[in-house]
Amino acid sequence: MADRILIVEDEAKLARFVELELMHEGYAVDKAADGRDGLGMMETGDYALVLLDIMLPGLNGLEVLRRARRTVDTPVIMLTARDTVMDKVTGLDMGAEDYVTKPFEIEELLARIRACLRKSAHRETASHALKVGPLELDPDRHTVACAGQPVELTHREFDLLKILMENRGIVLSRNTLIERVWGYEYIGETNVVDVYIRYLRGKIDDQFGLKLIQTVRGVGYVLRE
Ligand code: CA
Repeated sequence: MADRILIVEDEAKLARFVELELMHEGYAVDKAADGRDGLGMMETGDYALVLLDIMLPGLNGLEVLRRARRTVDTPVIMLTARDTVMDKVTGLDMGAEDYVTKPFEIEELLARIRACLRKSAHRETASHALKVGPLELDPDRHTVACAGQPVELTHREFDLLKILMENRGIVLSRNTLIERVWGYEYIGETNVVDVYIRYLRGKIDDQFGLKLIQTVRGVGYVLRE
């Protein structure tokens, strides 16, 4: 699906020009010509990026950004006609990703947009990582680290640790762990869980002097700090 970009800009000709260029590049585009409308659309729409003019009727761009940041973290590129350090610093302080000073070359704006979207795509992948105390598990890269040190796990150990980390603080029974890690068809002994928990403790808790993987007698296991 095309990334959707919101343009909040009161200069109709400029907004239309940027809209056409963005559509030509394959983006979906919405426009607002007023700060209040722009804020409303930012808060309710699902935008990959917002181009936000500073000098706007209704609410100025900095105020739109300040209010929007209470609820949404959509990346914002500020458009400013005033090439003043103050606006740039204020905009960046308030959580704008970047700014472009008018008049700008469309190529420059497109390059900034691409860079901005790349960064946020990267953030999204990075945010899949699970973290409990010093323990980090990255499902995308299939890596585990404890206190920054890589931990080598087998596939089964990895899957077991992932379930425990996803459910941090929640006690999981042996049966639940069997179903989630070994699958419903598994017909062996349920003490296979105990065996793999022992492996994980050896590689993590014992190795790093921690007590993350805890036994809850008669119930199952839980991972917590
Ligand atoms: Ca303006």
